[in-house]
Amino acid sequence: MNAVAVIDELKRRFPNEPEYIQAVEEVLTTIEDVYNENPEFDRYNLIERLCIPDRIFAFRVSWVDDKGKVHNNMGYRVQHNNAIGPYKGGIRFHSSVNLSILKFLAFEQTFKNSLTTLAMGGAKGGSDFSPRGKSDMEVMRFCQAFIQELWRQIGPDTDVPAGDIGVGGREVGYMFGEYKKMAREFTGTFTGKGIEFGGSLIRPEATGYGNVYFLLEMLKTRGLDIEGKRVAISGSGNVATYTAQKLLQLGAKVVSMSDSDGSIYVPDGITSEQLDYIFKLKNIYRGRIREFAEEYGCQYFEGERPWHHVACDIAMPSATQNEIDGDDARALIANGCIAVSEGANMPSTPEAIREFLKAHILYAPGKAANAGGVSVSGLEMAQNSQKLSWSAEEVDRKLKEIMSEIHKQCVKYGTESDGYINYVKGANVAGFMKVARAMMAQGIL
Ligand code: NDP
Repeated sequence: MNAVAVIDELKRRFPNEPEYIQAVEEVLTTIEDVYNENPEFDRYNLIERLCIPDRIFAFRVSWVDDKGKVHNNMGYRVQHNNAIGPYKGGIRFHSSVNLSILKFLAFEQTFKNSLTTLAMGGAKGGSDFSPRGKSDMEVMRFCQAFIQELWRQIGPDTDVPAGDIGVGGREVGYMFGEYKKMAREFTGTFTGKGIEFGGSLIRPEATGYGNVYFLLEMLKTRGLDIEGKRVAISGSGNVATYTAQKLLQLGAKVVSMSDSDGSIYVPDGITSEQLDYIFKLKNIYRGRIREFAEEYGCQYFEGERPWHHVACDIAMPSATQNEIDGDDARALIANGCIAVSEGANMPSTPEAIREFLKAHILYAPGKAANAGGVSVSGLEMAQNSQKLSWSAEEVDRKLKEIMSEIHKQCVKYGTESDGYINYVKGANVAGFMKVARAMMAQGIL
């Protein structure tokens, strides 16, 4: 395989899909050597079959708002690869959603799910519908209309969706309810469900907690501790808030959070009471992070991401893709940042990643560091199929074990001759090898 040639061909065939190409390029350039050590892969043209999704569903979602106006959104599900288990991946509702973004997310998910040690293939779905500013009834009608189109393509052993940006417990509940009604079955077809109807304890916390557990493993490799470290977080949604909660429990200082309108800076660190305020602000009142700055009188940077304004030891981007560019990366490093652990998917641009690797700081790509969410989703699937619920302690213990195992795989495949652990390479090679072997064993499909 010549990675450049494969990428050029994909660019030619999918010219309007920059995020998808970016995600593929990051993986192919790091697995090229190990791929070429196995000539049988190329005879089966494994690489193209791994880059191009198994299938994609696209559909119109028509729904009626509270004033009686009819809206038409697009809905999608990208079933990328099911070589090692049923398709599995979240659903994103955001005005920016398009096929390029969902294809990049489904591609990433395939490698991430492979890393978790659990049996899950990769998928992603979503819509250009934004729940922001919509009433509960509007969100419910939209979720029902979305599932009326999608329900035939998903199922507990076929494809198991979950949440992502704009899709939390409320949306999963409405989609699960409609699925149950259409399919006439009560199965674990969604994860991230409410506790009363098959959800797992610790699933809401899992991505954020898992990212912190991964960070602790990285810090350990340099003999460092989290206590007292200043951490800049972006976002104030599910991943960001539970990352902050775990960091506060461990004695770190969370100095920033953000939303799509701007970021706050709290040099002494956000308190637990203030974090509780943010949690209610975002989940109950559906307000803006600016209101935190007004309430507590801290600095607020309108329209800005945290990276340039904040002196921090650690950055944990937890909002969206491409939110740290080359300039941001250089600013972080110049301000003393020693570790970046990604809660979001692909938050760093290729230039930013190059800067982190060049500076030899600890850098964990999302597909390793944020895999705790889908891991506990996998544990939710296991509990559903056994009709059992495990305690929070048990799920948290398993989550820690999985994050530690992912870390070990990154070290195994990513340690370079000078001892630097290249987590990008480690995660990509480890994730790739398992899927590749399964695809080879199953023939050309
Ligand atoms: P939420 O919808 O709960 O929160 C998203 C946060 O990011 C909000 O604060 C939102 O601000 C902000 N945000 C969204 N889009 C943008 C943007 N374009 N520019 C700036 N800020 C933005 O989503 P999650 O916390 O679930 O997801 C965050 C990231 O983590 C995503 O990349 C997701 O793919 C990834 N992820 C999530 C997992 C999960 O279990 N939920 C698992 C693994 C990864 P606003 O309120 O203004 O929209």
